[in-house]
Amino acid sequence: MSRKDLGARLVGGDDAGATILHVDMDAFFVAVELLERPELVGRPVVVGGAGGRGVVSSASYEARAFGVRSAMPMARALQLCPHAVVLPGRMERYRRASAEVMAVFADFTPLVEPLSIDEAFLDVSGATRLFGSPAEIARRIRAEVHARTGLTCSVGAASTKFVAKLASGKCKPNGMLVVPDAETVPFLHALPVGALWGVGETTERKLRSRGVSTVHELAHTPEHVLERLLGRAMAERLADLAWGRDAREVVVERREKSVSHEQTFEVDVTSHAELEREVRAQADAVGARLRRAGLVASTVAVKLRWANFETVTRQERLERPSSTGLVLFRAAARLLAELHSEGRPVRLIGVRADGLSPAGDATAVTLWDEGGDDDWEAAEQTVDAATARFGRDALRPASLLGRRERRDRGTGLSERPNRPSQGVD
Ligand SMILES: [Mg+2]
Repeated sequence: MSRKDLGARLVGGDDAGATILHVDMDAFFVAVELLERPELVGRPVVVGGAGGRGVVSSASYEARAFGVRSAMPMARALQLCPHAVVLPGRMERYRRASAEVMAVFADFTPLVEPLSIDEAFLDVSGATRLFGSPAEIARRIRAEVHARTGLTCSVGAASTKFVAKLASGKCKPNGMLVVPDAETVPFLHALPVGALWGVGETTERKLRSRGVSTVHELAHTPEHVLERLLGRAMAERLADLAWGRDAREVVVERREKSVSHEQTFEVDVTSHAELEREVRAQADAVGARLRRAGLVASTVAVKLRWANFETVTRQERLERPSSTGLVLFRAAARLLAELHSEGRPVRLIGVRADGLSPAGDATAVTLWDEGGDDDWEAAEQTVDAATARFGRDALRPASLLGRRERRDRGTGLSERPNRPSQGVD
């Protein structure tokens, strides 16, 4: 192991019932970059957009020591750590590394639920006869990930997803923390109330104002008091979490709820034609991702953020579900025309596909079958094959030529699917 191995910590000395693992790669994007830039190991390194509106996507632990965090504006990060090395992001490269890591997980159990590009839940209850106790499996997975990818990860093991994720966060970087079922409540009750999912700053302030600052105090607060403070739904959920009640299972196939791409511009854009070109590129990217996932969408939405940060979204139902970039674009262009008039400055634009269903799903086919789009769909699948073989720039619509420069100068990895442009821990 390269980085100091924090080794394994077993709360209470055993691992009985801790068959849910949460595995989280350490400083993933940076770690992948360091595989190819070993001369930067041990230095403060940041992956993200270098432009004026650049955002940190991932920071090495050396950079974090200066207070640099993912999702922080790059300008702020460089104030905190002026000598940090800034590297542009390479999503394709990270996706490849992610696939290698997920492949290691699949060698231990088929019950793998990816949460994001660099983390997953694993249910190893069915793997103990083959690979040993949960702690042993966690240890082997860490060793195997390192052996096969050169990367380190942190593993939390517990009897619930919630506690497993808490545990992996507590033993980062390059660590392992096992919380056996019998130790769940003592483990939770020692934590600050802010450790509970869903407790943000406001909720924490409210709780502290009533003298509730630990999970222990929350668990022992009468529910009617909590209800008055937070409302029934939140009170019930936090009480459950505080007592370690989390019945959610590891879901192998996470059906994507929506697929989206959005772009924050370096400088506000006023030209409608330029916005339309951006929508075209985003619709193509969304279409390609839908096709890769074997999905079609029944609704398209466009999101605009004006210069004053006001955000508007408009959506339209497609005549029939599709994953064809051209079809998604046509709908998005109509919505853009409704929302934007020439000259109004736009700070961010996004295209989202919703109402996803498996391609070829009988229920997805509606009233009539339009030949035109199928031909175009076939053409786009050819583009997919060429892209897979020759890279993203091999083939693209003529209307997008000349667009690329501005985007790269933009915010680096702001293309994170399905999420606002945030970093990876
Ligand atoms: Mg991570």
